[in-house]
Amino acid sequence: MNCLHHPETPAALVCECGTALCHECAARRPDVGCPTCVAAKTSQEVAGAVTDTVMVVVGAIAGAAAFYALTRSWSEVGGALTFTVIGAGWPFGWRALRFWSALGTSYSAWGSNLIVVVLIWMTPLFLLVLKMWVAMLIGVPALVVTALRRVVALLGLRSSRLSQPA
Ligand SMILES: [Zn+2]
Ligand SMILES: [Zn+2]
Repeated sequence: MNCLHHPETPAALVCECGTALCHECAARRPDVGCPTCVAAKTSQEVAGAVTDTVMVVVGAIAGAAAFYALTRSWSEVGGALTFTVIGAGWPFGWRALRFWSALGTSYSAWGSNLIVVVLIWMTPLFLLVLKMWVAMLIGVPALVVTALRRVVALLGLRSSRLSQPA
């Protein structure tokens, strides 16, 4: 097996994607992988961080707007800050509740009784409102966890992914 970039040079290391690299090529970022994997992982992390930042900003603005809609003033700084922080965390709480939509989908065989039908109709709505509240409760912790995971993922780019050719 020879280097991808130097077809006449034997490969010294192999990336986890299968790309073979000579000593010279592998030495550039041996902690991450071949140049293609370095670029892919970096842009993936950056895209995720940008998405999260947008979620924080939009959530914070929505939280502040909700506070102003309720109080019609900014004089209560503590309340405004609380709404802003909860708003910033809310999208992360919502995202952490991905499993939620699986709830409440297994009741369609309960029959045609009117009350049951109304219940069946109301349950998704009730679950949706409940989900919104739970997302608000776990939002800020979920935001913190997401930020920590981003840092760990970026640090994880440093762990070795090149190995000896088989
Ligand atoms: Zn090379
Ligand atoms: Zn690779």
